[in-house]
Amino acid sequence: MTTPLDFNRHPCFNAKVKGLYGRVHLPVAPKCNIQCNYCNRKYDCVNESRPGVTSTVLTPEQALYYMGRVLEKEPRISVAGIAGPGDPFANGDETLETMRLIRREYPETILCLASNGMNLSPYVPELAEIGVSHVTVTVNAVDPEVSKNIYSWVRDGRVLYRGRQGAELLLARQLQSIRELKKHGITVKINTIAIPGVNDHHIIKVARAMRDLGADLFNCMAMYPNVDTVFENIPEPSRIYMTGIRNEAEQYLPQMRHCTRCRADAVGLLDDDRTEEMRGCLSACAK
Ligand code: SF4
Ligand code: SF4
Repeated sequence: MTTPLDFNRHPCFNAKVKGLYGRVHLPVAPKCNIQCNYCNRKYDCVNESRPGVTSTVLTPEQALYYMGRVLEKEPRISVAGIAGPGDPFANGDETLETMRLIRREYPETILCLASNGMNLSPYVPELAEIGVSHVTVTVNAVDPEVSKNIYSWVRDGRVLYRGRQGAELLLARQLQSIRELKKHGITVKINTIAIPGVNDHHIIKVARAMRDLGADLFNCMAMYPNVDTVFENIPEPSRIYMTGIRNEAEQYLPQMRHCTRCRADAVGLLDDDRTEEMRGCLSACAK
């Protein structure tokens, strides 16, 4: 359940406090259960700042230890989140254990997760019980005819689905997850990646459908054309183009306009990122 106090201290969900509070991403979730055509998790260039990238993967116990070191250096951290480098619910045990440990040792910390929604729904009651208050679900389309071009495959257990079948399954799971999150009083942000020529004509429909499901915030992000991906030759949408989409989507949901597309091991304030400075500490905690 999200309380007003939580909302006031989350720098992503409340732009007014982004200069006061920060977040740490705990990279405990290396595996992913889908393949987005814009994602390449192979590379970890230390100069690279984008989701899916981390220099180190931690166990839940290491993440707890790391959290303590982070808070010593940056006490303005109010949020502990898991944003990969894969999907938190393709690594469900590690995700739940990390959230539990942080809740126990640092009860004031806001707990936050970012997922593709494929395997999220069964975990929601437990997330609510632990006190995870903020969840982001990335929904790039609400029509499988559109999303079948965005994902190479979707994995459910041991079965791999491709094309329209995979797109239908993923969408059904995402909608179910969002409904479940809202039923449990969790604040939900929707991330939508704008991919020119693929889903950019469809984003307003996504915003409307998410409003109808009770989502709280909409974060439309420009696709970054990562090398060695299916979409590597699609140009990144311009700022002006993104402003137009966000302004239109705003008729349905409040917009997040200050997202900095953080790495899976990001730490610090959004305006005062300390990921580089903490890199040594992060790798030391993994030993
Ligand atoms: Fe990459 Fe995230 Fe997509 Fe998985 S869900 S393929 S980690 S962008
Ligand atoms: Fe916040 Fe965006 Fe960074 Fe996620 S990627 S922590 S929403 S600024």
